[in-house]
Amino acid sequence: MINRKITREISVGDIRIGNGNPIAIQSMTTTDTRDVVSTVDQIKRLENAGCDIVRLAVPDRESALAIKKIKDLVGIPLVADIHFDYRLALEALDSGVDKLRINPGNIGDNQRVRLVVEKAKERNIPIRIGVNSGSVDKELLEKYKNKIDAEVLVESAAKHIEILESMNFKDIAVSIKASDVLLTVASYRLFSERYDYPTHIGITEAGTVMRGTVKSSAGLGIILYHGIGDTMRVSLTSDPVEEIKVAREILKSVGLYTKPDIEFVSCPTCGRCKIDLIELANALENECAGLHKNIKVAVMGCAVNGPGEARDADIGIAGGDKKVLLFKKGEIIRSIDEKDALKELVREIKEMQGD
Ligand code: SF4
Repeated sequence: MINRKITREISVGDIRIGNGNPIAIQSMTTTDTRDVVSTVDQIKRLENAGCDIVRLAVPDRESALAIKKIKDLVGIPLVADIHFDYRLALEALDSGVDKLRINPGNIGDNQRVRLVVEKAKERNIPIRIGVNSGSVDKELLEKYKNKIDAEVLVESAAKHIEILESMNFKDIAVSIKASDVLLTVASYRLFSERYDYPTHIGITEAGTVMRGTVKSSAGLGIILYHGIGDTMRVSLTSDPVEEIKVAREILKSVGLYTKPDIEFVSCPTCGRCKIDLIELANALENECAGLHKNIKVAVMGCAVNGPGEARDADIGIAGGDKKVLLFKKGEIIRSIDEKDALKELVREIKEMQGD
């Protein structure tokens, strides 16, 4: 079991982050934020997939104003991603955003930072500081002769934190991301030794679905194992719904996913398998994507090892010759034609309890 580090608690809408609360899964919309219909549609798909908090790009005033309309139409908290323009941060706050992602050191003028901080304080809105290995400020690069390591990244976060703390603002979350897995791990570990602010963890620019999933799983797995991480985002070059699926699986695999969810197990197939198990397993996962139940489902290639190997599954199938055997808790219930296997298994799963 993982012993999670206890951090300060912040609230993003009705989601609590830090202090041992369940790790909140985040993603970011890929739509033009000004396009309210498309953005709301994507947020709803993300929410249905298990996303807890969603971030939106706010590159201009219209986007900041659109947040107000979007907020009325969705159920999960929204984070405004602001690069450096304090006016957009103020607009987003006025539009009712639940969290800001902005680096105070990038705003440029402390008076402007103060305006944002005062408004965020008034509304109990937290700020996420996001340090990225690709955008360390010039001063630090000169000081460390362009060397980027965990010390530099944590010092970069410290500079932004100091600005907020000097204004008596502590509703802070911090991310320190690099696309290098070990650098990211080292940075989060060092940060967590020095601070008790909640961390938003992720591997940045991780890549396409396959590569990004592997990199994120390796990196986030190690970070989580060290008890670090209060909210997470898996960054993939893909439909953001994929990010949520991967994040859920990472959390499930280390015992940190707390909502009801189906656990799938499937065999790798071998020469004994006589059905198209790969297609069946993938189709089943897709069909069950919106079902959130605490059950274990096994998809096994043959009856020789299938039901026995998946004895602890609540339900499963084992392939035969143009047929599959349906089993529950290791006991064979009946045989089904291969062509009806998907439909029948989905029907059985839908009927099962497990919430
Ligand atoms: S369950 Fe059967 S088909 Fe699947 S890997 Fe084991 S022996 Fe092969």
